[in-house]
Order: sequence, then C-alpha cells, then structure tokens
Amino acid sequence: MENMSQQQFDTFTASSLYCQKCQATMPVRERLLLVLPDKEIFDYLCTGCASSVGQREVTAGERIMAQARAPKRPRRIPLKARMN
Ligand SMILES: [Zn+2]
Repeated sequence: MENMSQQQFDTFTASSLYCQKCQATMPVRERLLLVLPDKEIFDYLCTGCASSVGQREVTAGERIMAQARAPKRPRRIPLKARMN
C-alpha cells in the first residue's frame, strides 16, 4: 500500500533533462533546494557530471493536488453513512 503512494510521487518529478556540459539529455537527480512557506524549490542535478541543469518550483497547491491524487487515504468507511 505504501509503495503505491511512493510511485505516485515519483511521477511528479522530472526524470531527465538536457545537460549542456554533457551535451545530451541526461537522467537527473532531484534535490530539495529551498523550502518556503508557500512553495518548495527543487534543483535538478545531472547524474553524469553533477552540475545543476534546472530548477522547479512546486507550490503548496500543486503539492496538495499531487497528494490528493495519490491513493493514500485511510480506509475508514463511516458505518452510519452506509446504513442510510
Ligand atoms: Zn552532465
């Protein structure tokens, strides 16, 4: 169950970006660069040369959306509601 929500979160990140140093599209590693009250800034590092190839801002709204999409809700079916 918890593995599934982890996979959902992975789709939220970029997997490869063009690196000017390597002159190729390289797989990137995401690193949390800065956390602000309303957003987080991620840095993308080339896995070939470890240089920064891009950044991404994730607003709080986007994060909530991504979390809402993940099937991570506790299975609590209110019994009273079912009896109606
Ligand atoms: Zn590179």
